[in-house]
Amino acid sequence: MARQFSGSKLVIASHNAGKVKEIAELLEGRGIAVVSAGDLGLPEPEETGETFAENAALKARAAAEGAGLPALADDSGLCVTSLENAPGIHSARWAGPNRDFSYAMERIRIALGDSADREAHFVCALALAWPDGHCEILEGRVDGQLTFPPRGEKGFGYDPIFVPVGDSRTFAEMEPAEKHAMSHRARAFRKLLDACFGEK
Ligand code: IMP
Repeated sequence: MARQFSGSKLVIASHNAGKVKEIAELLEGRGIAVVSAGDLGLPEPEETGETFAENAALKARAAAEGAGLPALADDSGLCVTSLENAPGIHSARWAGPNRDFSYAMERIRIALGDSADREAHFVCALALAWPDGHCEILEGRVDGQLTFPPRGEKGFGYDPIFVPVGDSRTFAEMEPAEKHAMSHRARAFRKLLDACFGEK
C-alpha cells in the first residue's frame, strides 16, 4: 500500500509557472496549501535521470529535503513515435535556452519531414516525496496525433500541435477544464489521488 499524504501543506517542485498553475488547479478544493519550489527559493536540481519517473523522483526528493515538507514533482514530455519517442525526457530542452516552443514545434515538424506517421503521446510521471526520502511514483499517458501548423492560444509547451484521440481540436484550442479531464497529467493525478490521498 502506498504511503498516505496526511499534511496540509505541499511543495510543488517545479519552476515552470504553467505546470505549477495546472497542478494547483488539479489539487483545488482539498484544503491543501500549495507553495512552489521557485517561491521557496529552492535550487532546481539537474535532471540526470533516463526516464520520466527517475527525473520526477529526483526533483521531488530534492524539494522535500530542501523544504522539510512533502513535495510533488512532475516530469513530463511529448514522445513522437516515428522519432523514436523524441523529444521525450528532453522536451523542455528542445525549446532551447529561451524556452521557445514555437522553435521546438518547428524542430519536430522538420524532423518529421514527409513522414505520414504523426502519432505521438504525452507522458506524465508524478513523484510524491517525503523529507525522509520515501517516494511514490505514478504515471499517466494520453495518445494523439500531431498537426501542423500549430493551432490555439491556450495551454503551454507543445499543446498547439497535439490533437488527442477522440477530438479534432488541439490541447491549445480547449478550455483548461477540458484538457484537465483527459490529459496525461490528469490521469497520473487520478492515480496519485487514489493511491496517496485516499480517494476512490
Ligand atoms: P519537464 O517535465 O519540466 O522536464 O518539461 C516537460 C516539457 O514537456 C514541458 O516544458 C513542455 O514542453 C512539455 N509538456 C509537458 N506536458 C505538457 C502539456 O501538457 N502540454 C504541452 N507540453 C507539455
